[in-house]
Amino acid sequence: MTLDFTPENVPVPVGHYIGGTLVTPAGEREIDVNRPSDGKFFASIPDASADTVDHAVSGALRAAKESGWSTCAPRERTRALYRWAELIEQDVVLLQLESACSTRPVTLAKSGDVASAAETIRFFAELADKEGGDHFATCHSKLGFSAAEPYGVIGAITPWNFPLSMAAWKCGPALATGNAIVIKPSEMTPFSTVRLAELAVLAGIPSGVLNVIHGLGATAGAQLVAHPAVGKISFTGSPVTGAAIMTNAANNGIKPVTLELGGKSPQLVFEKVNDLAQVASCISGGFTGNAGQVCVAGTRLIVHKNIADELIEKIQQNIVRCEPGLTWNSASRYSPIINKPQADKIHSIVCHAREQGADILTGGTFFPETGNGAFYRPTLIAGVTNDMDVVCREVFGPVLTIQTFTDEDEGIALANDTVYGLAAGVYTRDLSQGMRAIRAIEAGTVWVNRYGRSQDFIIPTGGFKMSGIGKDLGRAAMEACQRYKSVLIDF
Ligand code: NAD
Repeated sequence: MTLDFTPENVPVPVGHYIGGTLVTPAGEREIDVNRPSDGKFFASIPDASADTVDHAVSGALRAAKESGWSTCAPRERTRALYRWAELIEQDVVLLQLESACSTRPVTLAKSGDVASAAETIRFFAELADKEGGDHFATCHSKLGFSAAEPYGVIGAITPWNFPLSMAAWKCGPALATGNAIVIKPSEMTPFSTVRLAELAVLAGIPSGVLNVIHGLGATAGAQLVAHPAVGKISFTGSPVTGAAIMTNAANNGIKPVTLELGGKSPQLVFEKVNDLAQVASCISGGFTGNAGQVCVAGTRLIVHKNIADELIEKIQQNIVRCEPGLTWNSASRYSPIINKPQADKIHSIVCHAREQGADILTGGTFFPETGNGAFYRPTLIAGVTNDMDVVCREVFGPVLTIQTFTDEDEGIALANDTVYGLAAGVYTRDLSQGMRAIRAIEAGTVWVNRYGRSQDFIIPTGGFKMSGIGKDLGRAAMEACQRYKSVLIDF
Protein backbone atom coordinates (compact mmCIF):
# COMPACT_ATOMS: atom_id res chain seq x y z
CA MET A 1 0.00 0.00 0.00
CA THR A 2 1.35 3.43 -0.90
CA LEU A 3 1.87 5.97 1.82
CA ASP A 4 1.15 8.92 -0.50
CA PHE A 5 -1.80 11.03 0.60
CA THR A 6 -3.57 14.31 -0.08
CA PRO A 7 -3.28 16.67 2.89
CA GLU A 8 -6.68 18.29 2.19
CA ASN A 9 -8.32 14.91 2.85
CA VAL A 10 -6.84 14.34 6.31
CA PRO A 11 -9.49 14.75 9.05
CA VAL A 12 -8.20 17.41 11.44
CA PRO A 13 -9.19 17.28 15.13
CA VAL A 14 -10.28 20.85 15.77
CA GLY A 15 -9.97 22.33 19.25
CA HIS A 16 -8.38 21.53 22.59
CA TYR A 17 -8.79 17.94 23.79
CA ILE A 18 -10.05 18.12 27.36
CA GLY A 19 -11.83 15.41 29.33
CA GLY A 20 -11.99 13.16 26.26
CA THR A 21 -13.74 15.78 24.08
CA LEU A 22 -12.67 18.32 21.49
CA VAL A 23 -13.58 21.78 22.76
CA THR A 24 -13.42 25.20 21.13
CA PRO A 25 -14.40 27.77 23.77
CA ALA A 26 -16.02 30.94 22.46
CA GLY A 27 -13.89 34.05 22.35
CA GLU A 28 -10.47 32.43 22.05
CA ARG A 29 -8.42 33.83 19.22
CA GLU A 30 -7.46 31.53 16.38
CA ILE A 31 -3.92 30.74 15.29
CA ASP A 32 -3.29 29.59 11.71
CA VAL A 33 -1.18 26.48 11.21
CA ASN A 34 0.57 26.09 7.85
CA ARG A 35 2.06 23.06 6.10
CA PRO A 36 5.87 23.33 6.08
CA SER A 37 6.25 21.57 2.69
CA ASP A 38 4.35 24.14 0.65
CA GLY A 39 3.63 26.94 3.14
CA LYS A 40 -0.14 26.59 2.63
CA PHE A 41 -2.77 26.92 5.36
CA PHE A 42 -3.67 23.58 6.97
CA ALA A 43 -6.07 24.36 9.84
CA SER A 44 -6.29 26.63 12.85
CA ILE A 45 -6.13 26.15 16.63
CA PRO A 46 -7.50 28.20 19.50
CA ASP A 47 -5.16 30.02 21.89
CA ALA A 48 -6.17 28.71 25.34
CA SER A 49 -7.40 31.29 27.84
CA ALA A 50 -6.62 31.05 31.55
CA ASP A 51 -10.11 29.54 32.03
CA THR A 52 -9.42 26.81 29.49
CA VAL A 53 -6.07 25.96 31.09
CA ASP A 54 -7.77 25.79 34.48
CA HIS A 55 -10.56 23.62 33.06
CA ALA A 56 -7.97 21.18 31.64
CA VAL A 57 -5.77 21.03 34.74
CA SER A 58 -8.54 20.70 37.33
CA GLY A 59 -10.33 18.14 35.16
CA ALA A 60 -7.09 16.15 34.83
CA LEU A 61 -6.57 16.09 38.58
CA ARG A 62 -10.14 14.92 39.12
CA ALA A 63 -9.96 12.30 36.36
CA ALA A 64 -6.76 10.73 37.72
CA LYS A 65 -8.34 10.35 41.16
CA GLU A 66 -11.91 9.39 40.22
CA SER A 67 -10.95 6.90 37.51
CA GLY A 68 -8.44 5.21 39.81
CA TRP A 69 -5.62 5.82 37.28
CA SER A 70 -3.30 7.15 39.98
CA THR A 71 -4.10 4.47 42.56
CA CYS A 72 -4.76 1.28 40.56
CA ALA A 73 -2.35 -1.66 40.31
CA PRO A 74 0.40 -0.41 37.97
CA ARG A 75 -0.11 -3.51 35.84
CA GLU A 76 -3.52 -2.15 34.81
CA ARG A 77 -1.74 0.89 33.41
CA THR A 78 0.67 -1.43 31.62
CA ARG A 79 -2.21 -3.10 29.78
CA ALA A 80 -3.81 0.17 28.70
CA LEU A 81 -0.49 1.60 27.54
CA TYR A 82 0.17 -1.54 25.48
CA ARG A 83 -3.21 -1.18 23.75
CA TRP A 84 -2.40 2.45 23.10
CA ALA A 85 0.93 1.54 21.47
CA GLU A 86 -0.89 -0.86 19.13
CA LEU A 87 -3.31 1.87 18.04
CA ILE A 88 -0.49 4.37 17.53
CA GLU A 89 1.22 1.97 15.16
CA GLN A 90 -1.92 1.25 13.14
CA ASP A 91 -3.56 4.67 12.91
CA VAL A 92 -3.33 6.23 9.46
CA VAL A 93 -4.78 9.57 10.59
CA LEU A 94 -2.02 9.95 13.19
CA LEU A 95 0.65 9.28 10.57
CA GLN A 96 -0.88 11.71 8.09
CA LEU A 97 -1.42 14.48 10.64
CA GLU A 98 2.20 14.16 11.72
CA SER A 99 3.45 14.26 8.19
CA ALA A 100 1.16 16.92 6.69
CA CYS A 101 1.88 19.59 9.22
CA SER A 102 5.38 18.89 10.43
CA THR A 103 8.73 18.52 8.70
CA ARG A 104 8.57 14.73 8.65
CA PRO A 105 8.30 13.00 5.23
CA VAL A 106 5.62 10.32 5.46
CA THR A 107 7.90 7.33 4.82
CA LEU A 108 10.29 8.42 7.56
CA ALA A 109 7.40 9.37 9.84
CA LYS A 110 6.08 5.82 9.57
CA SER A 111 9.35 3.95 10.01
CA GLY A 112 10.78 6.43 12.48
CA ASP A 113 8.43 8.71 14.40
CA VAL A 114 5.33 6.52 14.63
CA ALA A 115 7.28 3.31 15.25
CA SER A 116 9.41 5.04 17.83
CA ALA A 117 6.41 6.64 19.58
CA ALA A 118 4.76 3.21 19.90
CA GLU A 119 7.95 1.61 21.23
CA THR A 120 8.46 4.46 23.68
CA ILE A 121 4.99 3.86 25.11
CA ARG A 122 5.69 0.10 25.31
CA PHE A 123 8.97 0.71 27.09
CA PHE A 124 7.26 2.77 29.79
CA ALA A 125 4.35 0.30 29.97
CA GLU A 126 6.90 -2.38 30.87
CA LEU A 127 8.37 -0.23 33.63
CA ALA A 128 5.02 0.69 35.21
CA ASP A 129 5.20 -2.04 37.89
CA LYS A 130 8.98 -2.03 38.25
CA GLU A 131 9.74 1.45 39.56
CA GLY A 132 8.13 1.82 42.95
CA GLY A 133 10.71 3.25 45.34
CA ASP A 134 13.23 1.51 47.55
CA HIS A 135 13.78 0.14 51.03
CA PHE A 136 16.75 0.83 53.26
CA ALA A 137 18.94 -1.08 55.68
CA THR A 138 17.72 -0.21 59.18
CA CYS A 139 17.89 -2.02 62.55
CA HIS A 140 15.45 -4.91 62.98
CA SER A 141 12.89 -2.95 64.98
CA LYS A 142 12.43 -0.37 62.23
CA LEU A 143 11.46 -0.30 58.58
CA GLY A 144 12.72 2.47 56.31
CA PHE A 145 11.45 2.80 52.78
CA SER A 146 10.66 5.35 50.11
CA ALA A 147 7.25 5.37 48.46
CA ALA A 148 7.11 6.67 44.91
CA GLU A 149 4.02 8.77 44.24
CA PRO A 150 2.78 10.56 41.12
CA TYR A 151 2.79 14.36 41.13
CA GLY A 152 -0.90 14.47 40.20
CA VAL A 153 -0.86 16.56 37.05
CA ILE A 154 2.27 17.00 34.96
CA GLY A 155 2.36 19.94 32.56
CA ALA A 156 4.26 19.14 29.37
CA ILE A 157 5.33 21.59 26.67
CA THR A 158 6.83 20.38 23.40
CA PRO A 159 8.62 21.93 20.40
CA TRP A 160 7.78 21.76 16.69
CA ASN A 161 10.46 19.32 15.68
CA PHE A 162 9.40 15.66 16.02
CA PRO A 163 6.04 16.56 17.64
CA LEU A 164 4.85 12.96 17.92
CA SER A 165 8.07 11.56 19.37
CA MET A 166 8.34 14.44 21.81
CA ALA A 167 4.75 13.91 22.99
CA ALA A 168 5.42 10.18 23.47
CA TRP A 169 8.57 10.90 25.48
CA LYS A 170 6.53 13.12 27.80
CA CYS A 171 3.31 11.09 28.03
CA GLY A 172 4.86 7.63 28.39
CA PRO A 173 6.58 8.03 31.77
CA ALA A 174 4.00 10.50 33.12
CA LEU A 175 1.12 8.09 32.50
CA ALA A 176 3.00 4.91 33.46
CA THR A 177 3.65 6.40 36.90
CA GLY A 178 -0.03 7.24 37.46
CA ASN A 179 -0.02 10.94 36.67
CA ALA A 180 -2.52 12.82 34.57
CA ILE A 181 -1.00 15.08 31.95
CA VAL A 182 -1.88 18.33 30.24
CA ILE A 183 0.31 18.80 27.20
CA LYS A 184 0.74 21.91 25.09
CA PRO A 185 2.27 21.08 21.72
CA SER A 186 3.94 23.71 19.61
CA GLU A 187 1.47 26.05 17.93
CA MET A 188 3.21 25.17 14.64
CA THR A 189 2.71 21.38 14.82
CA PRO A 190 -0.25 20.75 17.14
CA PHE A 191 -2.49 18.13 15.53
CA SER A 192 -0.75 14.77 15.90
CA THR A 193 -0.65 15.29 19.68
CA VAL A 194 -4.45 15.60 19.73
CA ARG A 195 -4.84 12.41 17.71
CA LEU A 196 -2.43 10.70 20.10
CA ALA A 197 -4.71 11.70 22.99
CA GLU A 198 -7.82 10.49 21.15
CA LEU A 199 -6.14 7.11 20.65
CA ALA A 200 -5.29 6.96 24.36
CA VAL A 201 -8.98 7.14 25.21
CA LEU A 202 -9.80 4.50 22.57
CA ALA A 203 -7.18 2.29 24.23
CA GLY A 204 -8.93 2.54 27.59
CA ILE A 205 -6.89 5.25 29.30
CA PRO A 206 -9.60 7.13 31.21
CA SER A 207 -10.96 10.31 29.62
CA GLY A 208 -9.43 13.38 31.18
CA VAL A 209 -6.14 11.71 32.12
CA LEU A 210 -4.43 12.93 28.92
CA ASN A 211 -5.43 16.40 27.75
CA VAL A 212 -4.09 18.67 25.04
CA ILE A 213 -4.34 22.44 25.15
CA HIS A 214 -3.31 24.63 22.26
CA GLY A 215 -1.90 28.09 22.12
CA LEU A 216 1.11 30.35 22.18
CA GLY A 217 3.91 29.93 24.65
CA ALA A 218 3.51 33.33 26.24
CA THR A 219 -0.20 32.75 26.91
CA ALA A 220 -1.28 29.09 27.13
CA GLY A 221 2.24 27.78 27.91
CA ALA A 222 2.96 30.28 30.66
CA GLN A 223 -0.47 29.73 32.25
CA LEU A 224 0.06 25.98 32.29
CA VAL A 225 3.43 26.38 34.03
CA ALA A 226 1.96 28.76 36.61
CA HIS A 227 -1.19 26.76 37.39
CA PRO A 228 -1.15 25.84 41.11
CA ALA A 229 -2.39 22.26 40.53
CA VAL A 230 0.39 21.41 38.08
CA GLY A 231 2.95 19.54 40.17
CA LYS A 232 5.79 19.32 37.70
CA ILE A 233 6.80 20.74 34.32
CA SER A 234 8.43 18.69 31.60
CA PHE A 235 9.66 20.93 28.78
CA THR A 236 11.47 20.44 25.51
CA GLY A 237 12.43 23.49 23.48
CA SER A 238 14.93 26.29 23.28
CA PRO A 239 17.19 27.47 26.14
CA VAL A 240 15.59 30.94 26.17
CA THR A 241 12.14 29.45 26.74
CA GLY A 242 13.60 26.94 29.22
CA ALA A 243 14.95 29.80 31.32
CA ALA A 244 11.58 31.60 31.22
CA ILE A 245 9.81 28.42 32.30
CA MET A 246 12.25 27.82 35.14
CA THR A 247 11.65 31.35 36.44
CA ASN A 248 7.88 30.98 36.09
CA ALA A 249 7.97 27.61 37.91
CA ALA A 250 10.12 29.11 40.67
CA ASN A 251 7.70 32.01 41.11
CA ASN A 252 4.64 29.78 41.17
CA GLY A 253 5.19 27.10 43.77
CA ILE A 254 8.88 26.20 43.23
CA LYS A 255 7.78 23.26 41.13
CA PRO A 256 10.34 20.89 39.64
CA VAL A 257 11.23 21.20 35.97
CA THR A 258 12.83 18.90 33.44
CA LEU A 259 14.33 20.94 30.63
CA GLU A 260 15.46 19.34 27.36
CA LEU A 261 17.02 22.21 25.46
CA GLY A 262 19.07 22.99 22.40
CA GLY A 263 22.58 22.09 21.38
CA LYS A 264 25.50 22.73 19.08
CA SER A 265 26.97 19.29 19.08
CA PRO A 266 30.53 18.53 17.94
CA GLN A 267 31.55 15.64 15.70
CA LEU A 268 35.15 14.95 16.64
CA VAL A 269 37.04 12.87 14.08
CA PHE A 270 40.51 11.65 15.02
CA GLU A 271 43.20 10.81 12.47
CA LYS A 272 42.90 7.02 12.65
CA VAL A 273 39.36 5.77 12.06
CA ASN A 274 38.03 2.39 10.97
CA ASP A 275 36.27 3.46 7.80
CA LEU A 276 36.23 7.06 6.57
CA ALA A 277 33.24 6.46 4.27
CA GLN A 278 31.19 5.27 7.26
CA VAL A 279 32.30 8.34 9.26
CA ALA A 280 31.24 10.59 6.36
CA SER A 281 27.87 8.88 6.28
CA CYS A 282 27.31 9.42 10.03
CA ILE A 283 28.32 13.06 9.77
CA SER A 284 26.17 13.71 6.70
CA GLY A 285 23.11 12.15 8.38
CA GLY A 286 23.93 13.92 11.65
CA PHE A 287 23.44 17.41 10.20
CA THR A 288 20.99 16.84 7.32
CA GLY A 289 18.47 14.59 9.12
CA ASN A 290 15.19 16.55 9.44
CA ALA A 291 17.17 19.31 7.64
CA GLY A 292 19.19 19.91 10.79
CA GLN A 293 16.12 20.63 12.91
CA VAL A 294 17.21 18.16 15.55
CA CYS A 295 18.27 19.10 19.06
CA VAL A 296 21.23 16.71 18.87
CA ALA A 297 22.19 17.61 15.29
CA GLY A 298 25.97 17.22 14.93
CA THR A 299 26.67 20.58 13.34
CA ARG A 300 30.29 21.22 14.25
CA LEU A 301 32.77 18.99 12.43
CA ILE A 302 36.13 19.01 14.20
CA VAL A 303 38.47 16.85 12.15
CA HIS A 304 42.16 15.96 12.21
CA LYS A 305 44.00 18.10 9.64
CA ASN A 306 45.49 15.10 7.80
CA ILE A 307 42.14 13.57 6.83
CA ALA A 308 40.01 16.72 6.53
CA ASP A 309 40.05 17.08 2.73
CA GLU A 310 39.17 13.46 2.06
CA LEU A 311 36.37 13.49 4.64
CA ILE A 312 34.86 16.73 3.30
CA GLU A 313 34.85 15.32 -0.23
CA LYS A 314 32.97 12.23 0.92
CA ILE A 315 30.42 14.33 2.83
CA GLN A 316 29.88 16.46 -0.29
CA GLN A 317 29.23 13.30 -2.31
CA ASN A 318 26.65 12.15 0.24
CA ILE A 319 24.67 15.36 0.56
CA VAL A 320 23.96 15.82 -3.13
CA ARG A 321 21.37 13.09 -2.55
CA CYS A 322 19.28 15.45 -0.37
CA GLU A 323 16.42 16.38 -2.70
CA PRO A 324 13.39 18.43 -1.58
CA GLY A 325 9.94 16.86 -1.74
CA LEU A 326 6.48 17.29 -0.26
CA THR A 327 6.15 15.47 3.06
CA TRP A 328 3.02 13.62 1.84
CA ASN A 329 4.89 12.01 -1.07
CA SER A 330 6.27 8.64 -0.13
CA ALA A 331 9.42 9.19 -2.19
CA SER A 332 10.46 12.26 -0.15
CA ARG A 333 13.28 11.93 2.37
CA TYR A 334 14.66 15.45 2.85
CA SER A 335 12.70 17.75 5.16
CA PRO A 336 11.51 21.31 4.66
CA ILE A 337 12.37 23.97 7.22
CA ILE A 338 9.37 24.49 9.50
CA ASN A 339 8.49 27.89 7.94
CA LYS A 340 9.88 30.73 5.87
CA PRO A 341 10.92 33.00 8.79
CA GLN A 342 12.95 30.16 10.31
CA ALA A 343 14.53 29.42 6.92
CA ASP A 344 15.38 33.12 6.50
CA LYS A 345 17.00 33.06 9.94
CA ILE A 346 19.20 30.14 8.89
CA HIS A 347 20.15 31.91 5.67
CA SER A 348 21.01 35.15 7.45
CA ILE A 349 23.40 33.32 9.82
CA VAL A 350 25.10 31.71 6.81
CA CYS A 351 25.33 35.08 4.98
CA HIS A 352 26.75 36.73 8.08
CA ALA A 353 29.43 34.00 8.29
CA ARG A 354 30.32 34.70 4.65
CA GLU A 355 30.66 38.42 5.43
CA GLN A 356 32.95 37.54 8.33
CA GLY A 357 35.27 35.73 5.92
CA ALA A 358 34.06 32.10 6.17
CA ASP A 359 34.17 29.88 3.05
CA ILE A 360 30.84 28.42 1.96
CA LEU A 361 32.09 25.18 0.40
CA THR A 362 28.66 23.82 -0.53
CA GLY A 363 25.08 25.11 -0.29
CA GLY A 364 24.27 28.41 1.36
CA THR A 365 21.11 28.79 -0.74
CA PHE A 366 17.47 27.68 -0.90
CA PHE A 367 16.23 25.04 -3.32
CA PRO A 368 14.51 27.44 -5.75
CA GLU A 369 12.00 24.97 -7.20
CA THR A 370 9.96 24.43 -4.03
CA GLY A 371 7.47 27.29 -4.24
CA ASN A 372 6.35 28.50 -0.83
CA GLY A 373 7.99 25.59 0.95
CA ALA A 374 11.28 26.49 2.56
CA PHE A 375 13.85 23.86 1.65
CA TYR A 376 17.46 24.79 2.43
CA ARG A 377 20.45 23.13 0.81
CA PRO A 378 22.86 21.22 3.03
CA THR A 379 25.64 23.71 3.67
CA LEU A 380 29.32 23.19 4.51
CA ILE A 381 31.26 26.12 5.91
CA ALA A 382 35.03 26.21 6.48
CA GLY A 383 37.33 29.02 7.60
CA VAL A 384 35.35 29.63 10.79
CA THR A 385 36.32 30.54 14.34
CA ASN A 386 34.55 29.72 17.58
CA ASP A 387 33.33 33.28 18.13
CA MET A 388 31.29 33.36 14.89
CA ASP A 389 27.51 33.02 15.26
CA VAL A 390 27.43 30.09 12.85
CA VAL A 391 29.72 28.14 15.20
CA CYS A 392 28.46 29.21 18.61
CA ARG A 393 24.67 29.59 18.01
CA GLU A 394 22.16 26.81 17.43
CA VAL A 395 21.30 27.41 13.73
CA PHE A 396 18.66 24.64 13.65
CA GLY A 397 19.18 24.05 9.95
CA PRO A 398 21.34 21.84 7.69
CA VAL A 399 24.55 23.77 8.27
CA LEU A 400 27.86 22.10 9.16
CA THR A 401 30.90 24.13 10.18
CA ILE A 402 34.35 22.62 9.73
CA GLN A 403 37.37 23.13 11.96
CA THR A 404 40.65 21.19 11.99
CA PHE A 405 43.09 20.20 14.74
CA THR A 406 46.42 18.46 15.02
CA ASP A 407 46.52 16.97 18.51
CA GLU A 408 43.98 15.31 20.76
CA ASP A 409 43.84 18.01 23.42
CA GLU A 410 43.28 20.70 20.81
CA GLY A 411 40.40 18.73 19.27
CA ILE A 412 38.74 18.17 22.63
CA ALA A 413 39.20 21.81 23.62
CA LEU A 414 37.46 22.91 20.40
CA ALA A 415 34.62 20.45 21.03
CA ASN A 416 34.09 21.77 24.56
CA ASP A 417 34.33 25.45 23.70
CA THR A 418 30.55 25.98 23.71
CA VAL A 419 27.83 26.98 26.14
CA TYR A 420 25.89 23.86 25.11
CA GLY A 421 26.40 20.25 26.18
CA LEU A 422 23.71 18.12 24.59
CA ALA A 423 25.53 15.49 22.51
CA ALA A 424 28.78 14.70 20.74
CA GLY A 425 30.15 12.22 18.20
CA VAL A 426 33.65 10.74 18.51
CA TYR A 427 35.27 8.74 15.71
CA THR A 428 38.45 6.76 16.30
CA ARG A 429 39.76 3.23 15.98
CA ASP A 430 41.86 3.65 19.12
CA LEU A 431 39.84 2.47 22.12
CA SER A 432 41.97 4.34 24.65
CA GLN A 433 41.66 7.55 22.69
CA GLY A 434 37.89 7.04 22.50
CA MET A 435 37.70 6.49 26.26
CA ARG A 436 39.75 9.62 26.96
CA ALA A 437 37.44 11.63 24.70
CA ILE A 438 34.29 10.24 26.34
CA ARG A 439 35.55 11.37 29.74
CA ALA A 440 36.75 14.76 28.54
CA ILE A 441 33.73 15.84 26.51
CA GLU A 442 31.15 17.90 28.37
CA ALA A 443 27.90 16.55 26.93
CA GLY A 444 24.94 14.55 28.18
CA THR A 445 25.33 11.98 25.38
CA VAL A 446 28.47 10.81 23.59
CA TRP A 447 28.19 8.54 20.54
CA VAL A 448 31.30 6.67 19.48
CA ASN A 449 31.77 5.57 15.85
CA ARG A 450 28.09 6.33 15.21
CA TYR A 451 25.80 9.35 15.40
CA GLY A 452 22.25 9.59 16.68
CA ARG A 453 19.74 7.52 18.59
CA SER A 454 18.66 4.11 17.41
CA GLN A 455 15.33 3.71 19.23
CA ASP A 456 17.26 3.14 22.47
CA PHE A 457 14.50 4.07 24.89
CA ILE A 458 16.43 2.42 27.68
CA ILE A 459 19.13 5.07 27.44
CA PRO A 460 18.27 8.37 29.14
CA THR A 461 18.76 11.58 27.18
CA GLY A 462 19.41 15.07 28.48
CA GLY A 463 21.91 17.88 28.34
CA PHE A 464 24.74 19.39 30.33
CA LYS A 465 25.41 23.12 30.60
CA MET A 466 22.86 25.28 28.71
CA SER A 467 21.34 22.18 27.10
CA GLY A 468 19.14 21.41 30.04
CA ILE A 469 18.35 19.82 33.36
CA GLY A 470 17.25 16.24 33.97
CA LYS A 471 16.59 13.37 31.62
CA ASP A 472 13.88 12.06 29.30
CA LEU A 473 13.66 8.36 28.38
CA GLY A 474 15.07 5.42 30.32
CA ARG A 475 14.39 4.65 33.97
CA ALA A 476 15.47 8.21 34.74
CA ALA A 477 12.27 9.51 33.13
CA MET A 478 10.15 7.30 35.43
CA GLU A 479 11.97 8.76 38.44
CA ALA A 480 11.48 12.27 37.11
CA CYS A 481 7.69 11.79 37.02
CA GLN A 482 7.42 10.74 40.67
CA ARG A 483 8.16 12.21 44.05
CA TYR A 484 9.61 10.01 46.74
CA LYS A 485 8.22 9.95 50.26
CA SER A 486 10.68 8.69 52.88
CA VAL A 487 9.06 6.54 55.56
CA LEU A 488 10.48 5.22 58.82
CA ILE A 489 8.36 2.87 60.98
CA ASP A 490 9.17 1.71 64.51
CA PHE A 491 7.67 -1.57 65.56
P1 NAD B 1 10.57 27.07 21.70
O1 NAD B 1 11.33 27.15 22.98
O2 NAD B 1 10.38 28.31 20.91
O3 NAD B 1 9.11 26.48 21.94
C1 NAD B 1 8.91 25.24 22.55
C2 NAD B 1 7.56 25.22 23.20
O4 NAD B 1 7.53 26.14 24.27
C3 NAD B 1 6.40 25.59 22.28
O5 NAD B 1 5.29 24.76 22.57
C4 NAD B 1 6.11 27.03 22.68
O6 NAD B 1 4.78 27.43 22.42
C5 NAD B 1 6.38 26.98 24.16
N1 NAD B 1 6.70 28.26 24.80
C6 NAD B 1 7.30 29.34 24.25
N2 NAD B 1 7.43 30.31 25.17
C7 NAD B 1 6.92 29.84 26.32
C8 NAD B 1 6.77 30.38 27.64
N3 NAD B 1 7.19 31.60 27.95
N4 NAD B 1 6.19 29.60 28.61
C9 NAD B 1 5.78 28.35 28.31
N5 NAD B 1 5.88 27.80 27.08
C10 NAD B 1 6.45 28.53 26.10
O7 NAD B 1 11.30 25.93 20.85
P2 NAD B 1 10.99 25.48 19.36
O8 NAD B 1 11.52 26.53 18.45
O9 NAD B 1 9.58 25.04 19.25
O10 NAD B 1 11.89 24.15 19.24
C11 NAD B 1 13.21 24.14 18.86
C12 NAD B 1 14.10 24.06 20.09
O11 NAD B 1 13.81 22.87 20.83
C13 NAD B 1 15.56 23.95 19.71
O12 NAD B 1 16.33 24.74 20.57
C14 NAD B 1 15.85 22.47 19.93
O13 NAD B 1 17.20 22.16 20.14
C15 NAD B 1 15.01 22.18 21.13
N6 NAD B 1 14.78 20.72 21.27
C16 NAD B 1 15.42 20.03 22.27
C17 NAD B 1 15.25 18.64 22.38
C18 NAD B 1 15.97 17.84 23.47
O14 NAD B 1 15.62 16.68 23.67
N7 NAD B 1 16.95 18.40 24.14
C19 NAD B 1 14.41 17.97 21.50
C20 NAD B 1 13.77 18.70 20.50
C21 NAD B 1 13.95 20.09 20.40
